[in-house]
Amino acid sequence: MKTQRRNFLKIAAMAVLGWGVRPASELMAAGGGTASEGLLFASRHKVHAGPNTLTASRWAMVIDTAKLNEKVMEDIVHTCHSIHNVPTIPGNQNIKWIWETHMDHLFLEDLHEYQPEAGAKSALALCNHCDNPPCVRVCPTKATFQREDGIVMMDFHRCIGCRYCMAGCPYGSRSFNFMDPRKHLETTNPDFPTRTKGVVEKCEFCAERLAEGKMPACVEVSEGALAFGDLADPESEVRKLLAERFSIRRSPTLGTKPCVYYLV
Ligand code: SF4
Ligand code: SF4
Ligand code: SF4
Repeated sequence: MKTQRRNFLKIAAMAVLGWGVRPASELMAAGGGTASEGLLFASRHKVHAGPNTLTASRWAMVIDTAKLNEKVMEDIVHTCHSIHNVPTIPGNQNIKWIWETHMDHLFLEDLHEYQPEAGAKSALALCNHCDNPPCVRVCPTKATFQREDGIVMMDFHRCIGCRYCMAGCPYGSRSFNFMDPRKHLETTNPDFPTRTKGVVEKCEFCAERLAEGKMPACVEVSEGALAFGDLADPESEVRKLLAERFSIRRSPTLGTKPCVYYLV
């Protein structure tokens, strides 16, 4: 039953979210050259070529934890993972871009032992696209880098699998492909690159969708639980939510300046 639901979500995600309208490989090659050269071109620039590209000075996400429930979180995770070819691997080898976890795992500094119910609640974790990202500083090949609009990207072609970035990230937001991930994909989205053994991967704030003028997939299927926008724009939805509601970030005292905010 669960597998059927997962397959349905994968097919629905690809259809509803418009994959196939224009392949990401083609779009990313908009700067000229081959598709793989295009990947490099596209990912190293603040904005991609295209009339509908969504731009911001500083992209950020706001997660309303009160609006999250099991169904919404399952839809979000399966949608993200299916369109980005994230494999499901049994055991502790699993790869994840966004995942469900308990609040007391997310907010080590904010919860205490007298809040057992709050700590047991579930929420979502993903890369925080930190303003001061240690993963970027430690990468010896610049395979991970930060765009001007704040998105922390991966260039899979440059990754040598040293995993310094995983040691540098205090949030566990990165996954390493210890085995060939392609063997563990139930279905493959041909419009998004697959990865190989020995490469690190993570959430990229749906840079390929922003380039096409679309909001991140997780935001679209979140039933209002996730908001995404420009932190530098006082009129943006994310700024309004942050002004109206109390929010926290993951381990802010580390100085990483996460750009994923949680309304609690
Ligand atoms: S959450 Fe981790 S992987 Fe993401 S930008 Fe921050 S340090 Fe890097
Ligand atoms: S594993 Fe890849 S992305 Fe991470 S630090 Fe090494 S080369 Fe950079
Ligand atoms: S922003 Fe995109 S890549 Fe990141 S978790 Fe959401 S759907 Fe996945």
